[in-house]
Amino acid sequence: MISRRSFLHSSVLVVGGTMTGASRFLSDTDIAMTVNGPIAAGDMGLSLIHEHILVDFIGADQYDPNRWNHDDVIKKALPYLEQLKAMGCKTLVDCTPNYLGRDVILLKKLSTQSGLQIITNTGYYGGSVNKFLPAHAFTETEFQLAERWIKEHTEGIERSRIYPGFIKISVNDSHLSDISKKLIRAAAHCHLKTGLTIASHTGPAIPAFEEIEILKQLGVSPAAFIWVHAQNEKDWNQYILAAKQGAWVSLDGLNENNIDDYVKMLAFLKKENLMPQVLVSHDAGWYEPGKADGGNFRGYTTLFEKLIPALKQNGFVEKDLQQLLQLNAAKAFSIKVRTA
Ligand SMILES: [Zn+2]
Repeated sequence: MISRRSFLHSSVLVVGGTMTGASRFLSDTDIAMTVNGPIAAGDMGLSLIHEHILVDFIGADQYDPNRWNHDDVIKKALPYLEQLKAMGCKTLVDCTPNYLGRDVILLKKLSTQSGLQIITNTGYYGGSVNKFLPAHAFTETEFQLAERWIKEHTEGIERSRIYPGFIKISVNDSHLSDISKKLIRAAAHCHLKTGLTIASHTGPAIPAFEEIEILKQLGVSPAAFIWVHAQNEKDWNQYILAAKQGAWVSLDGLNENNIDDYVKMLAFLKKENLMPQVLVSHDAGWYEPGKADGGNFRGYTTLFEKLIPALKQNGFVEKDLQQLLQLNAAKAFSIKVRTA
């Protein structure tokens, strides 16, 4: 439930022990949608904006939720979520799309049991192989696809009364293919009806700017677009160009081996005064059905244990961390129509 009181109560963040207010930068009518219903966006708190709990790589043609068992996944994933909660994280954005293992009932159970707020999505995962697209994605128009996603926003996902908090799509990693163009166009139509932010698994700058151009042509502001896996683009000047148009630059593949790279990218963006446009996360987790005990599940704590201390050593102060991990997440996942 959203109330003025809970909103104000939530408007503080503790990163490394200091408390500072953030909510004054957000309207208190801005909301985000979790698997347990709407919350004030300012109540997202410390957030990981691109993670996964379960991913099934079997492919859309053999997709079957009976391939996993809730109790088994919970047994494996819950301790990682509890650990994350204990580190001060309040919200986890689950980026697993439909036909890749999105299971909203499972997410709701895990949210309730862990106390973490979890956000799920609507949309389809394209990309060069298109293995995770259902057959109808190839035959239906962009408007028909948008209609399916809008319906999840208005009626809930699979009769669960659980609603998506954003649109997740994926496109191919070079000049956009026809099917990738259709997905970003469908996402634009869906955004204009629902206000859901579009997070697109993209990678390099070439497809990112083609997506931004399509969005603008259809009347959607780049502020509604998250350039997912921007870290795969090695020309950092492209981040400046995207951010200056209003897009979110998401550096979301943090792991134990690339802390220094993330510090450098973030320091570069800070120097360019673009911190208000940046998101950071691990893209971790990944219980994989079909593998023994779900395979090698990766935890979500590198950001807290390694990145934050490294950023502090490199001149990032509390306000920067609060912006990066709380305020930007709340703004990026606020549900509102943003027109070009
Ligand atoms: Zn991912």
